[in-house]
Amino acid sequence: MTEKLLIAGEWVPAASGATSTTYDPSTASPLAEFAEAGPADVDAAVAAARSAFEDPAWRDLTPDARGRLLWKVADLIERDAAAIAELETRDQGQPIAMSTGVNVTLAAQVFRYYAGWATKIEGKLSSVSVPDTLHYTRREPLGVVGLITPWNFPFAIAAWKLAPALATGNTVVLKPAEQTPLSTLRLGELCVEAGIPAGVVNVLTGGPEAGKALVAHRGVNKISFTGSTEVGQQIAAAAAIDLKRVGLELGGKAPSIITRGADIDAAVIGNLQGALFNTGQACGAYTRFYVDSKRADEFTEKIAAAAQTLKVGPGLDFDTVLGPLVSQEQLDRVAGYVDGGVAQGAQLVTGGGRASGPGLDAGYFFSPTVFSGVRDDMTIAREEIFGPVLSIFSYDDEDEVVARANATDYGLAAVVWTHDLTEAHRLAARIQAGTVFVNQLPLIDPGAPWGGFGLSGWGREMGTFALDEFTETKGVWVNLAR
Ligand code: NAD
Repeated sequence: MTEKLLIAGEWVPAASGATSTTYDPSTASPLAEFAEAGPADVDAAVAAARSAFEDPAWRDLTPDARGRLLWKVADLIERDAAAIAELETRDQGQPIAMSTGVNVTLAAQVFRYYAGWATKIEGKLSSVSVPDTLHYTRREPLGVVGLITPWNFPFAIAAWKLAPALATGNTVVLKPAEQTPLSTLRLGELCVEAGIPAGVVNVLTGGPEAGKALVAHRGVNKISFTGSTEVGQQIAAAAAIDLKRVGLELGGKAPSIITRGADIDAAVIGNLQGALFNTGQACGAYTRFYVDSKRADEFTEKIAAAAQTLKVGPGLDFDTVLGPLVSQEQLDRVAGYVDGGVAQGAQLVTGGGRASGPGLDAGYFFSPTVFSGVRDDMTIAREEIFGPVLSIFSYDDEDEVVARANATDYGLAAVVWTHDLTEAHRLAARIQAGTVFVNQLPLIDPGAPWGGFGLSGWGREMGTFALDEFTETKGVWVNLAR
C-alpha cells in the first residue's frame, strides 16, 4: 500500500502519481511507499489551508473549542502511543524506549500544553500619551503556515510546531522529512479523528522539491523549519522574495565543559547519554568535551570504557541503547568525519567504524567513537557530525575555555559540569548558546524556550515564545473625544 497525502481532509495520491520509498535503518530494507508531493500538490494544500483559514468553521471557533481539539489530539496520541512509537522506531531507527518515553510522550505533552494556551492569547492595553484615546493590541493568527521537519525526532518535532500553530488559529501544511514520513501521517490521521476541520491540517510527504515549492509559495505566510543550517540558509534566502516570516531551528555543536571540581563519574554518565542519545543524531547533543587538564585523562579513560559497554542493535530490541543511523547517506557522512579526524591527527580512543556482529551487518550501525587530543581547528571540532562521535579537548583556565567553547558558528546548546555554584552561573552567563544546562542531560520541555544563536537559527520554539512566532500583533486606536 502507498501512503497518501492529506489535502482538504481527503487522502489523495500525488497529482503526478510519483511515489518514494522509506527504509528500515536496522535492515536497510524497504519499509513503505509514500506519495511524493510536487508543486501541484503544494498548490492544492495551500489552497485548502487558505480556504480553511477563512472558513467560519475554523475562524470563528472559540478559543475554548480550539483548546479542546488540541486536548483531544493529545488523548488520541496517548491512546495510540505504543503503535506510533513502534512505527517511529521502524522508520527512524531510534530505540523503542526513546520513541516511547521521549518522542511520543513529548508530542502528547506539547499538545496539552498548547491546548491550555488557546484560551490565553491576549493583547494589551497600551499606555499611549495621546489624550482621549484608547489603544490596545490584538494577537492574530498569521494565516497559512508551512511546517518543515527533519528526520531525527519526526513525531515530536511535528507536534511541537503543529500544536502552537493551531492554538493560535493558523492553518498548516506540514511536510515531514523524506527519510521518516510515517509517524507524521499518523499525526494527520489523529487530527482528522479529533475533529479538526478539513483543510486546517494538510500533510505532504516528499523531498526537498516539495519543501522548496512550499517555501516559494506566495500563499504561505510563514515557514517554520527545523533541519540543517545549509537548508535553513536557502530557506531564508528564498523567503526574502516575499518577506515571508521564517523560524529556523538548525544545527548545533554543543560544548560540554567539565571543570576541575566536577563529579567525574556523574559527568561521564551524563555526557555519554547527552552525546549518544538517538545515536548522536540530535541537534542539542553534546559533542565537544572541554575537560580541565587535571581531569582529562581520567575523564577520557572512563567515558571510553563506558562507551564500549553500550549495546548497539535494532531499535525494537528492548536492551538496545544505540540504534542505527537513519540512512546509508548518514552512515557515509559519519564515517567520512571519523576518517577525517584520524587523518588530521586526532587520537582514536575507541570505535571508529561500522558496528559489526550478529544482526548488525545489513543496517546502518556505527560504533560509539571517542577521540582525544582533538585540536580546535580540526573538522570534527568545527562541523556538526550528527552521529555517535565524541571529541575530547583539555583546557587550563576559565577565560580560555569560554573563548574556545564560543569559537563556533553554532550556538544551540551547551552544558557545564561543576559543583561550584558561582562557577556554574558565571559560565552559564558567558557561554553563547540558546540553552545552557548545568549538570544535566539535554532536555526539552514545552515550558522552556528552545532555539539557537548564530548559525543555529532564528527565533524560539516552546513556551510563550512559540505563540509570538505564530501570531501578528495589531494595534487598534480608538478616538474617545466627544
Ligand atoms: P535537512 O535540512 O536536510 O532537511 C530537513 C527538511 O527540509 C526535510 O523535510 C527536507 O525534505 C526539507 N528540505 C530539504 N531541502 C529543502 C529546501 N531547499 N527547501 C525546503 N525544504 C527543504 O535536515 P535533516 O538532515 O533532515 O535533519 C538533520 C538536521 O536537522 C541537523 O543539522 C540537525 O541539527 C537539525 N535539527 C535541528 C533541531 C533544532 O531544534 N535546532 C532539531 C532537530 C534537528
